[in-house]
Amino acid sequence: MTYRDIDLDLSPLTQSMLSEVRKFAMDMMRPAGIALDRLADPADVIADSSVLWDVFRGFRELGLHTLQIPSTCGGMAGENDPMASILIAEQLGYADAGLAISMGVSCMPFNFAALIPTPAMQQLSRDFCADREGRLIGCWAITEPDHGTDWSLGGSDPRCGPSVKAVLRGDEYIINGEKSAWVSNGTIATHALLHVSLDPSRGMQGQGLAIVPLDLPGISRGKPLDKMGQRPLNQGSLIFEEVRMPKGYMVVPYPDLINASGGQGLATVNGGMAVVFAGLAKAAFDEALAYARQRVQGGVPIIEHAPVKLKLMKMFEKVEAARASARRMALYNVRNPLAPSVVHAVAAKCLSTETATFVASEAMQIMGGYGLAKEFPVEKMYRDARASMIEDGVNEALAIRAMDYL
Ligand SMILES: Cc1cc2nc3c(=O)[nH]c(=O)nc-3n(C[C@H](O)[C@H](O)[C@H](O)COP(=O)(O)OP(=O)(O)OC[C@H]3O[C@@H](n4cnc5c(N)ncnc54)[C@H](O)[C@@H]3O)c2cc1C
Repeated sequence: MTYRDIDLDLSPLTQSMLSEVRKFAMDMMRPAGIALDRLADPADVIADSSVLWDVFRGFRELGLHTLQIPSTCGGMAGENDPMASILIAEQLGYADAGLAISMGVSCMPFNFAALIPTPAMQQLSRDFCADREGRLIGCWAITEPDHGTDWSLGGSDPRCGPSVKAVLRGDEYIINGEKSAWVSNGTIATHALLHVSLDPSRGMQGQGLAIVPLDLPGISRGKPLDKMGQRPLNQGSLIFEEVRMPKGYMVVPYPDLINASGGQGLATVNGGMAVVFAGLAKAAFDEALAYARQRVQGGVPIIEHAPVKLKLMKMFEKVEAARASARRMALYNVRNPLAPSVVHAVAAKCLSTETATFVASEAMQIMGGYGLAKEFPVEKMYRDARASMIEDGVNEALAIRAMDYL
């Protein structure tokens, strides 16, 4: 970090935890992310010998996968200063946004399981907390090949309802359909937090939510997706063919429960994105600042040239606005889990992702030709940031949806 944080009042314990996380993030995640980004074939990202697994192990060894899970299931939620988990997510985004998302998504089904008061779900969450190696990996399966933005808008038109359908037959649900190649960790996950249609006549408002082990017969996967940014984040489709899922795995079997939840899911997902990409925005700024201080043109470091100074100040303003908004929103939502503010979460997601993209682009401009070179991390940061304005909902669609919560 190149300049001081001005809104911190952290206990010595939290500060020491953050310093451990910073070490893991910068010594392990940052170089791993760069190496994984350079692999031409995304299948190599998840090969047995991949450094990705070292990142998973490092994340688990620090217990970071348990931050959102209560101590009754073996987790650390509520034990730390609530700001600690927010700053940790920002630090991980600073190091490598794609890996930060992969680690975050890997926890989603298990975080959710901790909220479900059945012995099976409580045990699943406990097993996850005890896992220090990365044996249990989660994904969030919502987008479908023919329904992307339809999920973000969430209407009741049956033409826009989910294609993955679950039908109750006796003690089992029969699941059919496909989740898209954009499912983060879809290629490596052992469990999915899966959105399905329970009542097709109600469109997106007829959905249920399941926590599904992905080794059930009838589930297959597509090949890893090849994409421009966040390449260390492996993605792939999930295909369900006559899958017989035990009834207890449908953890929200009533659509009206989801419809009445006040957008908790939207707030959680967008809140996480906001914090991670505020971290990436700061990382791109720091690169540009360091470069501008050492690159000499016109006989002086380029930071001495007023146009470069002005660019850096504009970037600084935006980075600090994004970090402040993300931290404030996330803190409020951590403290109000039953009634989080969706509109603040979406606003912060849009601000952070647009700031990260703007700042990484300006960093490239300040660095001239070197901004485009693989030798420096900024061109990767730009690619990672650009993906975030589409990730977990196109920003424009999220903004339209969020207005319903104002
Ligand atoms: C890096 C990354 C990670 C992701 N991770 C996950 C994940 O973990 N799990 C998961 O399930 N999905 C994931 N996604 C998928 C993501 O949520 C979708 O890509 C996103 O919701 C957009 O859907 P789409 O790509 O199908 O675009 P489309 O829905 O086809 O949209 C295309 C364009 O049309 C516009 N548009 C569409 N409908 C309307 C409308 N009604 N009104 C106005 N404009 C409209 C959109 O704004 C957009 O510009 C990820 C995506 C990315 C890029």
